[in-house]
Amino acid sequence: MYEGAIQDLIDELGRLPGVGPKSAQRIAFHVLSADPADVNRLATTLRKVKELVRFCTICFNVAESEQCRVCRDPRRGNEVLCVVEEPKDVVAIERTGEFRGRYHVLGGAINPLEGIGPDNLRIRELMARLSSGEVKELILATDPNTEGEATATYLALMVKPMGIAVTRLASGLPVGGDLEYADEITLGRAFEGRRAV
Ligand SMILES: [Zn+2]
Repeated sequence: MYEGAIQDLIDELGRLPGVGPKSAQRIAFHVLSADPADVNRLATTLRKVKELVRFCTICFNVAESEQCRVCRDPRRGNEVLCVVEEPKDVVAIERTGEFRGRYHVLGGAINPLEGIGPDNLRIRELMARLSSGEVKELILATDPNTEGEATATYLALMVKPMGIAVTRLASGLPVGGDLEYADEITLGRAFEGRRAV
């Protein structure tokens, strides 16, 4: 245990995901010995991300204006909508270059153990978007794990009666993992080979 500001920094860093006590200490001492200009830039970036970044009012991807880059792009089609759990999944799918439609970011997956039900996700907003009748296919690109599968099953049951084709990414994705960990080629193939559910 250190005294004052350095311990405060270690404590704050230790609250970050994936940063254990040893890493927190190492980063804190790195900051202590770093150039003041570098530390200022980091502090400014941290403040700016909270000030400037918000969620797209249409798809809930991260955005720096009312709408995200994907929603603002007039060259993308409105007929295919891809449902993902988190903004990082949008990035993973964009990297494949296989998809030219729009997204809807749920903000997580159904997880009864953590008390996350359909009402805690942006499912109501999804249904509102689908009610316009423009979407012909809904791709369920939730993670290939228990929570992602449960969410996909729930959405399929809700959406199929609306007469919209519902598809799920093809197998081949690492089961139990996160979409973002799949490499571009595997994820691209899973996209191409998506099947009706
Ligand atoms: Zn958007």
